[in-house]
Amino acid sequence: MSKVIYKCTNFGQCENATPSKTFALSDSDSKLCPGCDKPLAAGKAPPPGLPLKVIGGIAAGLLVGAGAWWFGVASRPDPVRADPVRAETMITDFFPHVK
Ligand SMILES: [Zn+2]
Repeated sequence: MSKVIYKCTNFGQCENATPSKTFALSDSDSKLCPGCDKPLAAGKAPPPGLPLKVIGGIAAGLLVGAGAWWFGVASRPDPVRADPVRAETMITDFFPHVK
């Protein structure tokens, strides 16, 4: 039987109602908080060991993407950014009070 993570959501009323306090319960267990007897809400805690890998993968993907974006932008001339008159026109068009 796989267990499901439950959390108490009786915030301010129960000492178990904190983000770090979870209860791993199987289907046959009571779904009531031992602290306040309110029904527990099913949490979304993933299996142990998974979060760091997921976060690391996302961070690595973002870094690679940001690096590719940065080198792509840096190696390409940008006519809009190089034209101060056009930039001024764009700014005053979007922010009329700047004039
Ligand atoms: Zn509680």
